[in-house]
Amino acid sequence: MRLDTAITDAVERLTPASDSARLDAEILLCQTIDMPRSYLFAHPEDELDDLSKDRFEALLQRRIDGEPMSYITGSKEFWSHELLVSPATLVPRPETELLVELALLEIPRRAEWQILDLGTGSGAIAISIAAERLLCTVTATDVSPDALAIAAENVRQADLANVTCVPGAWTEPVANQQFNIIVSNPPYVREDDEALQNLQHEPSSALASGADGLDDIRILASDCAAILAADGWLMLEHGADQQSDVANILKAAGWVDITCHNDLAGKPRVTVARRSGK
Ligand code: SAM
Ligand code: GLN
Repeated sequence: MRLDTAITDAVERLTPASDSARLDAEILLCQTIDMPRSYLFAHPEDELDDLSKDRFEALLQRRIDGEPMSYITGSKEFWSHELLVSPATLVPRPETELLVELALLEIPRRAEWQILDLGTGSGAIAISIAAERLLCTVTATDVSPDALAIAAENVRQADLANVTCVPGAWTEPVANQQFNIIVSNPPYVREDDEALQNLQHEPSSALASGADGLDDIRILASDCAAILAADGWLMLEHGADQQSDVANILKAAGWVDITCHNDLAGKPRVTVARRSGK
């Protein structure tokens, strides 16, 4: 079968499962023949051998079954980094770049601050901040050892000496330390949210957080102040419909200067609060 025919057939089969059927088909075919995308357009008449045909079919079937492209290719771009991902890690979302932006706005360029990323997954947030603020020390934690192994490999590939990966539940592994900023994109989806049906390939421990989706945010609101310097910042990603609940949880736990920021789609996504200096 010719490359261009393979793509046309694949697009037809992928269309019901994917909004980006043509791009997906091209990327999967490139992965099969280990060539850049430009090769597909330069050599449409090339023939796929039987082995490649079988490999392409296996990749296509995974995508048709709803697996995210990033798990099939093993990587995802976030900020300016190409990150390894695995089924143990959430696929980093573009909206999470807002959390990175807000943290960078508060961290002076020459600061030598201690930064903490709780629930780092692939390491996306920790690595992005660390690469922009090389004088800061970033600690990245996760309760999943498999996710943390991916984060550590991403740190190694990004060649960053200022990120340390530490296993454990929320603030537990860093209980004796003090930070200037704590950032987190914790699980925040309601357990019965139908959206979880479409996210079945990602770990539910990275997504779901109790009946109202706020169990982990409640833990962070109550435990983070103890490891934050006076006037230090807590920055939390949350669902677009959780802005007022998150603000109330933070207020009740004694946080001050609580503000919420919108993502590029105009949805309230990241709430920032300060530990009272008093
Ligand atoms: N920070 C990554 C990102 O933005 O792409 C991953 C975020 S994912 C929504 C939440 C992460 O929190 C997962 O990697 C999960 O393993 C981790 N997590 C869940 N429960 C945790 C806990 N009790 N302590 C620490 N990390 C936890
Ligand atoms: N934003 C994620 C989604 O696509 C949820 C991530 C989370 O729970 N932190 O559903």
